[in-house]
Amino acid sequence: MNEATCDALVVGDGPAGCVAALTLRRAGLRCTMLAPSMPASRRGAIESVPPMVPLLLAAAGIGGHQFADAIAGRFGGMRSDGGVRLFQSSDGMTRTLREEGWHVERAQFDRVLLNHALEQGVTLQRDRVTAASCMTDGVAVETAMTRHRARWLVDASGRGAMLQRLLGLVAITRGPKMLAWRGVARLSQSADAQHDATQGGTRDLTHDVMTSATHAMPTFETSGSSWLWQAPLDDGTLAWTWAGEANAPPPARVRAPVYPDTSGRRDESGTTAASVARGFDVSWRLVRPAAGAAYRIVGDAAAMLDPRSGQGVLFALSSALAAARSIVAVEQAPHLRALEAAGYDAFVAAEFRRKGDELMRRMPAPANEADVSG
Ligand SMILES: Cc1cc2nc3c(=O)[nH]c(=O)nc-3n(C[C@H](O)[C@H](O)[C@H](O)COP(=O)(O)OP(=O)(O)OC[C@H]3O[C@@H](n4cnc5c(N)ncnc54)[C@H](O)[C@@H]3O)c2cc1C
Repeated sequence: MNEATCDALVVGDGPAGCVAALTLRRAGLRCTMLAPSMPASRRGAIESVPPMVPLLLAAAGIGGHQFADAIAGRFGGMRSDGGVRLFQSSDGMTRTLREEGWHVERAQFDRVLLNHALEQGVTLQRDRVTAASCMTDGVAVETAMTRHRARWLVDASGRGAMLQRLLGLVAITRGPKMLAWRGVARLSQSADAQHDATQGGTRDLTHDVMTSATHAMPTFETSGSSWLWQAPLDDGTLAWTWAGEANAPPPARVRAPVYPDTSGRRDESGTTAASVARGFDVSWRLVRPAAGAAYRIVGDAAAMLDPRSGQGVLFALSSALAAARSIVAVEQAPHLRALEAAGYDAFVAAEFRRKGDELMRRMPAPANEADVSG
């Protein structure tokens, strides 16, 4: 087996991994990123990020122009269950200075971040981690071919939750198991489908897919225990994310077959019947402790709320920045090791609790709520 050493190992090449790696690299650490040889298939997935994401990226030196090909639409506010919420600039003004969120093609978005990290001098090795051990002053990580040693390990493995599995860390769940689906639909529909969508006395979320075409704001609608997020995109299509009652898949009319995409652009985008057959596990989960003497867990690998929160990418970036800052602090003042680890763990737990509580205030409380204190 080959041996390799560096200052910091980062596992995962999503937004959390890229931002952690480039921040550590900029602080002067030799940083190696480990990611599977087959990058995570996002297959054209569209995700919506709040204005804080472009602001954070700009502050990290990655200007909006670099994401031009990744941005599928921009939005200055949203309609949420009938109410309109406009984003405000940090000084409270809502006119030309209004901040905007982006609807991004995740594969492209991630590519920009990864390229930027590589340009900063981060090394990328395409290899899947199979074992990890964390000591008080360093880590050892194994892949099929190589044993890596480093002073630091950042786990940014997303829902794969690499360290939680390998170290047997505690995963605290909150609420019931939740599954979500997503796809992209065309906004024009056949007369038959329109007729179907507007029939019946009950409220039909599918109908909203049509009506939202008249405004550029994304909409968020709840109906019973189902919810539907719809994001009108620049090319006239509509990205949707759905979570349904009892984890039921989206009704057929929400899916692409009713709104066939003839442009071809999104044929591989997750809109086909086959791709919506599989839901994503988006159950709420917090891993404790999110930091140890020589590791930090960031992004979805550390804490995850379902996509209703709209904050997954934002948390990936903010937790990566916080983790990198705490590592650099220990590099400069080693006696702070235990304090920095406890501080980062507390930050992650507090963010999870705050955002979870906020979601619960707005939505019906999920059953079987577990206590996340401590
Ligand atoms: C249906 C759905 C819709 C969503 N919509 C939104 C939205 O609109 N807005 C939003 O902000 N968020 C949304 N999210 C959440 C968002 O996708 C995540 O929060 C975000 O991707 C987290 O980033 P990350 O870097 O932590 O993890 P990821 O982006 O998942 O990256 C993790 C990386 O780690 C790699 N990896 C995994 N295991 C290993 C291993 N053992 N070794 C090496 N590498 C490994 C994976 O290949 C992957 O590339 C949505 C999620 C879902 C499922």
